[in-house]
Amino acid sequence: MIPAAFDYARASSLAQAIDLLRDDPDGTKLLAGGHTLLPALKLRLASPELLVDIGGIAELKGIEISETGIRIGTLATHAELFASEPLYRELPIFRQTASLIADPQVRNRGTIGGSLANADPAADWPAVVVALQAEIEIVGPNGLRRVAARDFFIDIFSTVLEPDEILVSVHIPRPRTGMHFIYRKIRHPASGFAVVGIAVGVRLQEGAVDEISIGVTGAANHAFAGQRASDFLIGKTLSPDNIEQAAKLLSETTACLSDRYASAEYRANLIRIETRRALFALAS
Ligand SMILES: Cc1cc2nc3c(=O)[nH]c(=O)nc-3n(C[C@H](O)[C@H](O)[C@H](O)COP(=O)(O)OP(=O)(O)OC[C@H]3O[C@@H](n4cnc5c(N)ncnc54)[C@H](O)[C@@H]3O)c2cc1C
Repeated sequence: MIPAAFDYARASSLAQAIDLLRDDPDGTKLLAGGHTLLPALKLRLASPELLVDIGGIAELKGIEISETGIRIGTLATHAELFASEPLYRELPIFRQTASLIADPQVRNRGTIGGSLANADPAADWPAVVVALQAEIEIVGPNGLRRVAARDFFIDIFSTVLEPDEILVSVHIPRPRTGMHFIYRKIRHPASGFAVVGIAVGVRLQEGAVDEISIGVTGAANHAFAGQRASDFLIGKTLSPDNIEQAAKLLSETTACLSDRYASAEYRANLIRIETRRALFALAS
């Protein structure tokens, strides 16, 4: 439980962090809230030469809501996302999801950026950012780029982020009037992480689904969008039969993970049940 020796630098600006990272991207780790990285260091699952603390970088902070959308700096902690009243008024799903993450200690330190960059297949935010059709802003030696959240996660603990890049912010388009989101999660009884987590947003027009977006976490190697189920529901009512059919389609979308706690078949069934519950809640 003692990490290997490493050097430590606290970056005061994004430019400085990029410079520090550029020297030896593979031997350097960025430190945000530390609630994933520090246990990994102690277990020697990671042994970087240099730890770059990004916790003081102003450009990575803040929650801003404008006419066009919402910008969340990657250093926003789960607790800040829970507490922000403007964000709650715009997208209550942030408070709802943050309340389901771990305990107050973890929520006070853990950041949305750390969670997304780490890409734990059972983390909660990935499903939410996929359902919100967010874009993730990344900076590296070649400047800024944006990646759609649904294309950001590529495998277990793996994203499109290059070793010399830093996740800067999450950009969410302002939801259209009448669009409501919900997050449902079956927690692992020991860790509290999602065995399956489903984020769904629906907008109804004259009783029929006008817009829908679904993100799933916990079930597979990485978070994914439930496109087939969404396509199926467009233009239809949220009747029990349509909900059942959409939930079934979603549960058949991917090969689910299997482990000692939950088989692939069990996870697929949880997708079906949680999707059904989310859609019934949104229908009412
Ligand atoms: C007991 C416990 C319970 C938990 N339960 C849950 C849960 O129920 N649901 C859930 O979703 N999570 C859970 N977590 C994880 C928690 O939310 C972590 O805080 C989060 O996943 C990582 O955020 P962090 O800021 O601590 O990142 P760190 O630990 O600092 O970093 C994690 C990784 O991301 C990289 N990184 C961090 N920031 C950036 C950036 N801006 N750009 C590029 N790379 C970056 C780091 O280099 C590192 O590789 C739990 C953690 C613990 C310890």
